[in-house]
Amino acid sequence: MIISVASGKGGTGKTLVVTSLALSLQNREPVQLLDCDVEEPNAHILLKPLLNRQQKVSIPIPQVDEEKCTRCGKCAEVCAYNAIAVIADKVLIFPELCHGCGACSYLCPEDAISEVNREIGVIESGQSKDIEFIHGKLDVGEAMAPPVIRGVKKHINLDKLVVIDVPPGTSCPVVEAVKDSDFCLLVTEPTPFGLNDLTLAVDMLGELGIPCGVIINRDGVGDNKVEEYCHQKDIPVLIRIPLDIEIARLYSRGVTLAEGIPQWQEAFLSLVDEVSKLVEREPE
Ligand code: SF4
Ligand code: SF4
Repeated sequence: MIISVASGKGGTGKTLVVTSLALSLQNREPVQLLDCDVEEPNAHILLKPLLNRQQKVSIPIPQVDEEKCTRCGKCAEVCAYNAIAVIADKVLIFPELCHGCGACSYLCPEDAISEVNREIGVIESGQSKDIEFIHGKLDVGEAMAPPVIRGVKKHINLDKLVVIDVPPGTSCPVVEAVKDSDFCLLVTEPTPFGLNDLTLAVDMLGELGIPCGVIINRDGVGDNKVEEYCHQKDIPVLIRIPLDIEIARLYSRGVTLAEGIPQWQEAFLSLVDEVSKLVEREPE
């Protein structure tokens, strides 16, 4: 089973949930944690894994043979990302805009485009206690997170329970990280901002056909509009983590909820059992 953990916005406590879930599960069943928040991965800060494998991630970008090129403009015409332009006697390539889709080289009538690899990030993997840990890191200044996320997800082993840390928001990297999940846990806080971003995330998951449940973090901080919304939409609220100075202190010291207050492990294990039941109930 693949459980992804997402949030409509950053700073809701998503990493606190992801790490505590994996730590609670490790003594019960094989578990994998994939940190797909590749622009700012931070699960490793809490889990301190031993990362002993590294793999570079590259995308193929075009390289034009000026001798063969007739400046016909076809490549610029087909590029959906404005990553290639033909001006007067030159073809300009903007590598940071290129998605490496290969359309320009495929459609060049003169066979003037070859591809060269451009490194955009790295995938590191290893072990944190009994948790198999994999995360991706997008190089600073790079914008193309999805290829790195796909690289991380190639490590999925369905013989284990897979927990995915999804980037915040509802943009392309989020869709890439969350798709193919059996269930998505949405971490939010009970405030108007939290509600606004939660509704966007719920809509996105609806489009993808992925069932979801909500975890309310810092329960007690705002109002009950998130609860009302979940009730209206028939979305289960699976855990409420209270606004608690002790939890904040632990987090600021880099200690997970499951380790700092071990009683929470039971709650996270029950949460996974509840998710399994909800997934089983889903129509094929
Ligand atoms: S499509 Fe090929 S031949 Fe035409 S401008 Fe682009 S590189 Fe040159
Ligand atoms: S590989 Fe795709 S994205 Fe990159 S320049 Fe060519 S058409 Fe554009």
